[in-house]
Amino acid sequence: MTLSLPLPDQPAHAIAESVRTGAVSARAVVEATLARIDAVDGRRPSTSPGPDDPENSRRVHAYISLQAEQALERADAIDAQVARGEDPGPLAGVPLSVKDIFCVAGTPSTAASRMLEHFVAPYTATPIARLQAAGAIAIGKVNLDEYAYGSSTESSAFQPATRNPWNANCVPGGSSGGSAASVAAGEATLSVGTDTAGSIRQPAAFCGVVGLKPTYGRVSRYGLIAFGSSLDCPGPVTRTARDAALALQAMAGADPHDSTAAALPVPDYSRGLDQGVRGLRIGLSPDYFRIRYPDPTTGEIRDTELPPEIVAATRAAAEALARAGAEIVEDVPLPNTSFGIPVYFVISRVEAASNLHRFDGVKYGHRTQQTIRDLRDMYRKSRGEGFGRQPKLRILMGMYVSGAQYASQYYQRALRVRTLIRRDFESVFDPQGAYRLNALLTPTTPTTAFEIGAVYGNSVLMQYADLLAVNANHAGIPALSMPGGFDAGGLPIGVQLFGADWDEATLLRIAHTFETLTADAAWRSRRPLALTQ
Ligand code: GLN
Repeated sequence: MTLSLPLPDQPAHAIAESVRTGAVSARAVVEATLARIDAVDGRRPSTSPGPDDPENSRRVHAYISLQAEQALERADAIDAQVARGEDPGPLAGVPLSVKDIFCVAGTPSTAASRMLEHFVAPYTATPIARLQAAGAIAIGKVNLDEYAYGSSTESSAFQPATRNPWNANCVPGGSSGGSAASVAAGEATLSVGTDTAGSIRQPAAFCGVVGLKPTYGRVSRYGLIAFGSSLDCPGPVTRTARDAALALQAMAGADPHDSTAAALPVPDYSRGLDQGVRGLRIGLSPDYFRIRYPDPTTGEIRDTELPPEIVAATRAAAEALARAGAEIVEDVPLPNTSFGIPVYFVISRVEAASNLHRFDGVKYGHRTQQTIRDLRDMYRKSRGEGFGRQPKLRILMGMYVSGAQYASQYYQRALRVRTLIRRDFESVFDPQGAYRLNALLTPTTPTTAFEIGAVYGNSVLMQYADLLAVNANHAGIPALSMPGGFDAGGLPIGVQLFGADWDEATLLRIAHTFETLTADAAWRSRRPLALTQ
């Protein structure tokens, strides 16, 4: 352990090592983490609004529910294992926060929706169960946009929504905003989020932590409340690349409960981390340094340069990696990049609308208390009351663009463009191709964290927060966001790596090398405001 750091700020690998050797008890780690939550999160986690306390605007509010008792019991069980000479696993005693879109047995599993406010999951999602089996201790469930529909966590039915630990006037990003904020503020050492268009990487970038979206199918989706089934990927949020490697190791692999979880061997992600980057070909693409989006007022399509600080941070990362021996390949063409959001807008709505059909007030979830005329009336009223604005908008749009009259114009066409996006990446990662990249380096987001309320309510603009992230989901490839510095306002900047199918190992290795190369940089010693107040 780095002695100068308090327990909640230690990396997972250091906590696990100390717990496994008995140098620190898992109980002490969990108690320190619970104390940190008390200090920075604000009022006790809850799904009811509570009094309108002015203090709320300074607090992080990452958690929706805490499972403190169970966590302490689990910590004692791990300490007892160590005392008996047994090994509790590679994540022994590591505090874990879980995006509340995963089912965890015996805990409320709400998707931040009134629809599921009182739903207690009867079983545990595979990635969470695997982390627990590796010794991680689930502390509680963290906030998100309702059903993961958003980029700011503001659309959660459970307010006050999470705030950015670096600046409480700003959003933490989304939809895994609670995951990223909890890890940035030391309220968890590790979190699990989901990424459908960028929902792990964009909040990781906004909160200055590492977020990894694995290859589609690397991690089982069993027990995940589904959003876009062809896009959703569970993945880790951590403070270091080494911790992301440890977490992915535990989460990944085939699962008899999910036939899309690939039956491929899971490599030893930690072992390769120290190999450096010499000889790796890392691409930069002009298509990721400008953004094309509709003007919010006129709807006119515009090309804009990215903010210079974001470009500079990405270029600085490329230069650092080049000095360490990577070969930087400039001008890599990814011509279909700007279609990512329009295509996502169509495909994700169709899949969301389809996945929301199961919430009908019959099997689980909210059922209306009003008098009902018949079954349809019961569905209509239950869904009308249980769903917030985002699910309703997405059902309407998803049904529209996949309806018989419109499907060939929208849905079928979007699927074809998705294939073109996939081919862009196939071509640049092809080991026999012209570019032969091992990774592509880009900014993660077109802006740093925006202010609360600044974008909320404008679904199109909110969606464009994922502009630089979404194509990894269309293509199914892995992508990682890592901290790359700060803007003039003191907000973190994220730098992103895309990789070839199943090659998370190379992304982790590059991210770890970058951390080592910049370990002494002044920006690395900054601490979130939430921890210094
Ligand atoms: N911002 C995306 C949306 O609103 C969500 C992204 C995600 O990965 N869940 O659809």
